[in-house]
Amino acid sequence: MAADTTHSADTMKCLVYDKSSMPWDSSRGFQVSRQPVPRLDESVRRADADCALIKVLYAGFCGSDRGIWNRVAFKGMIFDSLKREQSTVRIIGHELVGEIVAIGSNVASRYSLGVKDVVSTESHIICGTCYQCRIGQTHICSQDVIIGIGRDGCFAEYIKLPANSLWPTDTRRIRTKVAAVQEPFGNAVHACTTADLRGRTVAVFGCGTIGLFVVMVARALGATRVVGIEPNPRNAELARKLGADEVITITPTANGAQPWSADKDVVQAVREACGGIGADVSMEMAGFNSSVNNAIQSTRRGGDVILFGLKQGNFHIQAFDRMIVNGLKLHSVIGRRIFETWYITRNLLEDRSNGIQDHIFEDILGGGEESVVHIDDFTPESFEKTLAAWPKPLIRF
Ligand SMILES: [Zn+2]
Ligand SMILES: [Zn+2]
Repeated sequence: MAADTTHSADTMKCLVYDKSSMPWDSSRGFQVSRQPVPRLDESVRRADADCALIKVLYAGFCGSDRGIWNRVAFKGMIFDSLKREQSTVRIIGHELVGEIVAIGSNVASRYSLGVKDVVSTESHIICGTCYQCRIGQTHICSQDVIIGIGRDGCFAEYIKLPANSLWPTDTRRIRTKVAAVQEPFGNAVHACTTADLRGRTVAVFGCGTIGLFVVMVARALGATRVVGIEPNPRNAELARKLGADEVITITPTANGAQPWSADKDVVQAVREACGGIGADVSMEMAGFNSSVNNAIQSTRRGGDVILFGLKQGNFHIQAFDRMIVNGLKLHSVIGRRIFETWYITRNLLEDRSNGIQDHIFEDILGGGEESVVHIDDFTPESFEKTLAAWPKPLIRF
């Protein structure tokens, strides 16, 4: 229909995966689409009383969005949820900063939020009633739904969200573009607050965007030595700039017997870099099986291994008995503790003395010019170039 390309107050521009026109196995990327603007209508949906409509300002493009773009991740969650909704179109995106433009009747009194407030959002929408939710472990709610995957997301001019997921943000203290990446930055904060880093040596396996955040957060939380392990020279350089004491370059062709084996040279280099005994805390941010084994073997006896990198399927753990005998503590980290992690995230970003906010703006977002793409300028071809050039592209709406 012609209306698809003309502006209408009832529809909005967004980036979607459309299963009817984009076969999962033979397509890539997202398409620009016009979809209905979400509405608050309490006469139809009582739950809208506790929701807000947000005008998206900037949305962050995440590693998991790259996974959907390349059709290597989240197929099951997207297809199952589309089936439930009897729809074929999923609006992607889960990292945002935006402005509230409408609120349900409970929002002001229950959540102290109002029109014109600037907010980010927790991307995992929780049920509030399951066992985990009731014992305060909402980040592992058994019914959680991630926006942009299991329901429509924020690569859109507007998004409707439950007010209890929103996170008010003071853009006088946190730059608007930096505020768009509070959610992934919060992943790093959650990972770094899972073990005590004060006065400790920390090895960061994989210095992609969240690994780079981890380098800065570990430093700010009191780690005395931060060692990065990274194959990409540009990321390795960034890790040094952001505060890593040392970055060990690793070649993707593993120096091990099997694709999943630890790289003996890397393990030895990390152990040497961490006082000759190994890291107090290893952060596995890459998600490769070999990297998991590197992390386990590089950790000192009794140390902590934080597992954040995510891959489907079976992994081999080498020398399982040594892991037990060495008394390692393994922790899986997902999402952010709601909202404990968000408060620490806010404190770290608002405290300008640690340099984190400026590093994010200058070094990760590159000053927020070329890494930002306006939705009107979006084409899949040009965006592939942005994806190749920037660790954390932002989309402006
Ligand atoms: Zn993400
Ligand atoms: Zn729950």
